[in-house]
Amino acid sequence: MKPGEAMVVVGGGQCGARAVQVLREGGWAGAITLIAEETELPYERPPLSKAVLLGERTPAQGAIHSEAFYREQGVDLRSGCQAKAIDRAAHTVTLANGETLAYGRLLIATGAQPRRMQVPGADLAGVHMLRNAGDALAMAAEFAPGRRIAVIGAGFIGLEVAASAVQRGCEVVVLEAAPRALMRAVPAEVAQCLVAHHRERGADVRLNVQVERFEGEGRVRAVVLADGSVVPCDAAVVGVGVAPRVALAQEAGLEIDNGIAVDPALRTSDADIYAAGDVCSFVHPLYGRRMRLECWRNAEDQARTAALNMLGQDETHSAVPWFWSDQYDMTIQIAGLPAFGTTTVVRETGAASKVFFALNGEGELVGASGVGQTGEIARDVRIAQALIERRARIDPACLADRATKLKALLAQQA
Ligand SMILES: Cc1cc2nc3c(=O)[nH]c(=O)nc-3n(C[C@H](O)[C@H](O)[C@H](O)COP(=O)(O)OP(=O)(O)OC[C@H]3O[C@@H](n4cnc5c(N)ncnc54)[C@H](O)[C@@H]3O)c2cc1C
Repeated sequence: MKPGEAMVVVGGGQCGARAVQVLREGGWAGAITLIAEETELPYERPPLSKAVLLGERTPAQGAIHSEAFYREQGVDLRSGCQAKAIDRAAHTVTLANGETLAYGRLLIATGAQPRRMQVPGADLAGVHMLRNAGDALAMAAEFAPGRRIAVIGAGFIGLEVAASAVQRGCEVVVLEAAPRALMRAVPAEVAQCLVAHHRERGADVRLNVQVERFEGEGRVRAVVLADGSVVPCDAAVVGVGVAPRVALAQEAGLEIDNGIAVDPALRTSDADIYAAGDVCSFVHPLYGRRMRLECWRNAEDQARTAALNMLGQDETHSAVPWFWSDQYDMTIQIAGLPAFGTTTVVRETGAASKVFFALNGEGELVGASGVGQTGEIARDVRIAQALIERRARIDPACLADRATKLKALLAQQA
């Protein structure tokens, strides 16, 4: 990279907004431009499915930095501005308004977008998806006591939306095609525990059901299932996963493999272009396979790694994944990748709190999922994260026994 060249970041979400901060803190004195398609100041998405739907806060209250931050840090924030093309030979990014920006190093942090359902009626008014502030406000406006809300998909977004709708007094039906909730994310025991809680709170969670179509005259009035049954609704929410936003990278000829493929330094197949956050796929050294993570902590961590490497450092991304979700009065915290486990060991950590440890075939701890009150699970999940990092093999009886301190097990691994 030649002196005087600019750092350009495409995508003003969690990762992009954090990356520009790390670039400045890391000593970059030259130009930084953040190209952000959304018109709001970059904001945190997790509250959208929780406090925003509950009407307790606005999306703007989740701004990652104030307007003054960008001004004072000399970050040229281009809000409402979409990057349209990357010319790798010329080292330029072309914007939707026709303007061309030169870069020395470029970070692509374009995130992901909800998958659409390919069934008749999916584009009817009243069928919602949730990714941005506008989506959350439109959905929140649908929630009122007695309104019937059909949630398609019992993944984390679907279950969080369902919990918020129930708390707003709605009658909620959750429709999931798989035989259980959270199929990709957690062991069956954790999913059962969460679904039981939803049912206790009044949500009608139906598993193994296939949505065939949405019905309504201009606006959704019912969801029709493959077995012919009809679920009447006033609004529907589709939460069936997300797809990485790779079009810009793909058209620029960068390697794509379930996201923009990056090396351990988060560099793409072009040495001057990095990718991070929900949009990138990387080989995690702990698990030895390529993966893409869709969570807040990963976006934060990867923003840091990518920005430091753009400045010439040699960081590798190896953080043990960590994720949380809030549903009703419950918190779920997950360290590692529980889905890689073959055995589950349960530890009761409080009256209504449990930590589920996932062990692989070699007896190594690969994941831990805490469900319950934050104060009763957070510590164990945090220590489990360190144990996972050390590929610890722990006697399942010790994991299950609340009297055995995980910290002591960690000390034995040192
Ligand atoms: C409703 C909701 C709730 C969530 N709750 C949790 C939670 O409880 N716990 C958790 O760990 N994670 C949660 N997440 C996930 C977490 O928010 C994401 O992992 C994180 O936002 C990813 O950050 P990112 O910067 O990679 O992508 P994003 O935050 O999606 O940002 C990408 C940005 O790039 C912009 N963009 C895309 N293409 C272009 C372009 N060509 N030009 C300019 N801009 C472009 C997009 O508009 C977007 O603003 C939640 C996500 C959602 C949607």
